[in-house]
Amino acid sequence: MQAKKGIAILGSTGSIGTQALEVLASYPKYFDLQVLTAGMNANLLIEQALKFQPNSVVITDESQYQKVKDALWSEDIHVYAGQEALCQVVESTEVHTVLTALVGYAGLKPTIHAIEAGKTIALANKETLVVAGELITQLAKEKGVNIYPVDSEHSAIFQCLVGEFHNPIEKIYLTASGGPFRGHTHEQLKSVTLEQALKHPNWSMGAKITIDSASLMNKGLEVIEAKWLFGLAPEQIDVIVHPQSIVHSLVQFEDGSMKAQMGLPDMKLPIQFALTYPARLKTDFPRFNFMDYPQLTFEQPDRNVFKNLDLAFQAMAAKGTAACALNAANEEAVAAFLDKRISFLEIAELNAQTMHALANTPNPIYEDYVRADAQARAYVQEILK
Ligand code: NAD
Ligand code: MG
Repeated sequence: MQAKKGIAILGSTGSIGTQALEVLASYPKYFDLQVLTAGMNANLLIEQALKFQPNSVVITDESQYQKVKDALWSEDIHVYAGQEALCQVVESTEVHTVLTALVGYAGLKPTIHAIEAGKTIALANKETLVVAGELITQLAKEKGVNIYPVDSEHSAIFQCLVGEFHNPIEKIYLTASGGPFRGHTHEQLKSVTLEQALKHPNWSMGAKITIDSASLMNKGLEVIEAKWLFGLAPEQIDVIVHPQSIVHSLVQFEDGSMKAQMGLPDMKLPIQFALTYPARLKTDFPRFNFMDYPQLTFEQPDRNVFKNLDLAFQAMAAKGTAACALNAANEEAVAAFLDKRISFLEIAELNAQTMHALANTPNPIYEDYVRADAQARAYVQEILK
């Protein structure tokens, strides 16, 4: 029998992490869970560790180390704490694939360590490619490491490309649901609330990406993610709003033919494909029924109202550390919006202000990204004082 695939899940207590564990639980003969990690949610991490019996767990919030250690003392499970531990656990020889399901810039360093250790990456943490796509893709090439997308749009593109890897892409269309504020005017957006922004029409996700979806920043981040994953020029990437979220994205080839990947919106499918590629394992997920969706519709995103999309295109064109600064500003702005310290429209305003104010470092090395990230965060915090 084929050896089981050793899996590390960074961010196992989140939306992607918990769905990944459902996938793993369905195929006990296929996967061997090695590592679970959480930011703050010690209770859920303990529960998951008791159920799945990984080799190691990491709680990055060090103040909760003793709690996790005490709860798992009788188990054969190593317990670690802190950000540095994340970088070490991914290097374990038993780990074959690292699923990066933590949120934000925090994913960058452990992903670099995983690639350096030659691990296959199942990438949910899109911020890693937004911040340092050049460095990550170059490093992956050097190490001969494959990065398989988990993001549903990028998984769709990847699925369309299977069997087509030698055929050039003319362009891709990333689909967007449009989020809860699709069709809103600038005037209407002035008074939207946090509770409204957190209600995504089609997907249930972590708080940060849900707000990013409402502001179209998520689609902007995905445009940059696609550039790096598929080696595309900015003019080869287009965004189309598709409110039903059934067509997950499309590829157009040089003969004019277009391929799309479709299905009900369920993140377990792209998570599973990233972990089992090139195999497709049988699932009991609900199947699509055409009669439930007699019409699939498409429309242009409103770039005048949702300014984040153009900011992402500008950052992509500017290269250097521009996208890193934009991402950092957005992480700070979204955190402030989640704390009810700023309004919804102020997110894009802070992003624009920060990106345009800070100097762009061309041909960045790792330290330049670290500096650009810190500078952008400090800049936003100064405005928010
Ligand atoms: P989430 O907030 O639900 O979960 C995040 C996980 O990361 C949790 O386990 C949390 O404990 C951990 N974490 C948070 N901050 C951390 C830190 N500083 N250090 C270490 N661990 C930390 O997020 P999510 O919705 O699961 O999203 C995870 C990633 O996947 C994001 O990059 C997101 O853009 C991407 N993604 C998510 C979805 C989705 O459906 N949720 C879809 C596509 C892409
Ligand atoms: Mg997506």
